[in-house]
Amino acid sequence: MEPDKAICPLCNIPTDEVIQEFQRFRLCRTKTMKGHRERLMLYSTDHVKNVDEQSLGEAYLLLMIIGTRAFSYATNWAVFEPAYATVPEHWHRVASDLDPSSQDYNQILKTPRLIIDNEKMTVNRGIPEKIEHSSELPPSKGTNAARPSATAGSMK
Ligand SMILES: [Zn+2]
Repeated sequence: MEPDKAICPLCNIPTDEVIQEFQRFRLCRTKTMKGHRERLMLYSTDHVKNVDEQSLGEAYLLLMIIGTRAFSYATNWAVFEPAYATVPEHWHRVASDLDPSSQDYNQILKTPRLIIDNEKMTVNRGIPEKIEHSSELPPSKGTNAARPSATAGSMK
C-alpha cells in the first residue's frame, strides 16, 4: 500500500464496517455518532481528493436514496460539505439527522449543507451563519428545517 493510503483512516476502514459497496463508493457509519441516531459517510473507493463531475452526481444520488431510507425517522436530514472534514485528502460526504440536541449541532449550523425534508420532499441549501452564543436557534428560514417538528401537522 502507498504511504499516504497506509495512514489514511478512510482507506483503512475495515471491510466489516462497510454497510454497502458501490462501483465507485462505499457506505459506512461514521466512527463517532455525535449524539445522532444515525450518521453515515459515503466515501470514494479510491484515495482521491476529488471525484469527477459524473461521479459526484452519482454520489449525491446514492446519498439521496440511502438517506431517505436511513433517516426516515427524522423530519429532515442533511448532507454536509467537507468544511470541517478531518480527512480532506480522501473524498467523502457525511450525512446525519438534524437533531438540535446532537453534540455537533453548532458545527452543523456553520457547515454548508443540503437539507432534505422527508415530508415535503424538498432540498434546501443551509448556508452557514454567524452563531451567537445562545442556546436559541437563530430565526432564519435556512435553519427552520433543523428545528424539531413542533409545527402543527408535521408529526407523522
Ligand atoms: Zn484514503
